[in-house]
Amino acid sequence: MIKYRLKCKDCEIISDSWFSSFKDFDKIKKLKLLTCNSCGSNKIEKSLMSPNLSNNKKKFSSNENLKIKEIKNKLKIYQKFVKDNFRYVGKNFSYEARSLIYDTKNNEKGIYGKATKEEIEELNDEGIKADIIPWVNEKEN
Ligand SMILES: [Zn+2]
Repeated sequence: MIKYRLKCKDCEIISDSWFSSFKDFDKIKKLKLLTCNSCGSNKIEKSLMSPNLSNNKKKFSSNENLKIKEIKNKLKIYQKFVKDNFRYVGKNFSYEARSLIYDTKNNEKGIYGKATKEEIEELNDEGIKADIIPWVNEKEN
């Protein structure tokens, strides 16, 4: 599939259309089957084409990308704080979280690690404050 950006010469309206191939576009154009959605003119020309990206991933605009980057940066700062101040306990999170609360000798400020949503809910039910935070992969920009 090829995507063509079509421009009407008469009313200058631009629309995107999909064609199975370049030849397909040519054929339809020659048969004057290509008409403007807005004014009905068949003076349609293609102004730009972009290859069909086979994945369905939603593309973000540059503005959105900037926002995402901003959020990621904030998360990284937050992550750094967590890493600097808390002890990583991996999958033992809920066990360690309980010992942090119930073991009076344990005077750690906090821990972080992996836990399921259910484990977090259990901890919250017991009155132990635990939160899920999105974790940004260091390698990601
Ligand atoms: Zn038109």
